[in-house]
Amino acid sequence: MAVYNPKSLKAEEFINHEEILETLEYAEKNKNNMALIDEILEKAKPRRNGGILSCKGLSHREASVLLACEDPVKVKQMYELAEEIKLEFYGNRIVLFAPLYLSNYCVNGCLYCPYHLKNKTIPRKKLTQEEIRAEVIALQDMGHKRLAIEAGEDPVNNPIEYILDSIKTIYGIHHKNGAIRRVNVNIAATTVEEYRMLKEAEIGTYILFQETYDKKGYEELHPTGPKHNYAYHTEAMDRAMDGGIDDVGLGVLFGLEKYKYEFAGLLMHAEHLEAVHGVGPHTISVPRVKRADDIDPDMFDNGIDDDTFTKIIACIRIAVPYTGMIISTRESEEVRKKALAMGISQISGGSRTSVGGYTEEERPHDTEQFDVSDSRTLDDVIEWLIELGYIPSFCTACYRAGRTGDRFMSLCKTGQIQNCCHPNALMTLTEYMMDYASPKVKESGIKLINEELLAIPDEKVRAVAKEHIDAIMNSDRRDFRF
Ligand code: SAM
Repeated sequence: MAVYNPKSLKAEEFINHEEILETLEYAEKNKNNMALIDEILEKAKPRRNGGILSCKGLSHREASVLLACEDPVKVKQMYELAEEIKLEFYGNRIVLFAPLYLSNYCVNGCLYCPYHLKNKTIPRKKLTQEEIRAEVIALQDMGHKRLAIEAGEDPVNNPIEYILDSIKTIYGIHHKNGAIRRVNVNIAATTVEEYRMLKEAEIGTYILFQETYDKKGYEELHPTGPKHNYAYHTEAMDRAMDGGIDDVGLGVLFGLEKYKYEFAGLLMHAEHLEAVHGVGPHTISVPRVKRADDIDPDMFDNGIDDDTFTKIIACIRIAVPYTGMIISTRESEEVRKKALAMGISQISGGSRTSVGGYTEEERPHDTEQFDVSDSRTLDDVIEWLIELGYIPSFCTACYRAGRTGDRFMSLCKTGQIQNCCHPNALMTLTEYMMDYASPKVKESGIKLINEELLAIPDEKVRAVAKEHIDAIMNSDRRDFRF
């Protein structure tokens, strides 16, 4: 039997089944232990020491107790704490991105994914470099600066060379004032050598969803293809980090297996990365299984309701305060609104999940990876964020200034975010307002930018930010950053 060891490089030791079962038992036994819950909430509170803001975070055991607790007063306190942490570390900024589907060719047999090899009804499509150009121009014309590229696993149709060529194409396109400044990559688990190539191609975050941490369930849900190998998939982030990628994004596909098990596994994965590589995950995504071609989400027994989903987000926020959290257009406007308050720091907007979808006038459904619940345009999403009191941000500065991995974390920890991320958000939002916004959104956006400029604490930074914002408003100069 494998023994739990967060420092081990073996999947079954750092995501240890027995440790998860014991954690769930401990959480169940203590879910009404109010003294312990108070102690856990107290430990997780943000603290200031000599101007430096810090949060201890929680272990998977402690966080699992919070998740198991159903006491309404304590749950309310958890939500308040999640909001407090969110505001302290991320302010009211929300970073925007869009997925770009390159190819839906896939050799795997994932039971929940429409790209699975046996699906004969979905039209297969792989974008040429020319088609990628057209998609990227359409995305730039919406105002996007940050993409997540997506592809099925197929060594013949989507080899690493294709992915690398596509990244080069994307970074090379500058249409009008547009540019894609950060390309995150969501492709199947691969070798250290290929991760090194991705790093050299200057990707942002390498994203790979675990789908489920439950090994038995994992093997059943991935009956065929290379993705069947649980250990190879679970150990992928270690290989990515060995290949030099220090921003990695974790995620669980909620709905497949039991959420409490997944939650403990996810946090154990984060603890493992911290223990071995000295830096936790850059982001955590929280997708839920959706309807898609040949996929009925009701086939899976573990769907979670919106309240449970919100609670999971709040508990992740409390447990790993320095990790960004992402929610996609799989979720509706209403769910996204709740999730934003509880800890989400990045959302997609105006997304099309079909291969080649951005160049079509009407949203195409035939090659879609999943049904989109939030189908608003990017401009609508920006308007909505502003109305809710958020600052939409297109910032990519950290990654471009080399502030990745632990250097990004130390920016969070030293409380410099208000003097760095805040002005960067305002400058990139000004770019959006001048180049892409509708007149109505532009008006509310400029008003917000002028108000928020005053909230930059450092006088010098404030003056420089103002100068840059004036330059963006009055000339074609772009891409300023702190
Ligand atoms: N092929 C890559 C891999 O193997 O990890 C990743 C690309 S896939 C396009 C991105 C993610 O979409 C998957 O990791 C999975 O979590 C999610 N996904 C697949 N089918 C889905 C569905 N029916 N509803 C919601 N999300 C889904």
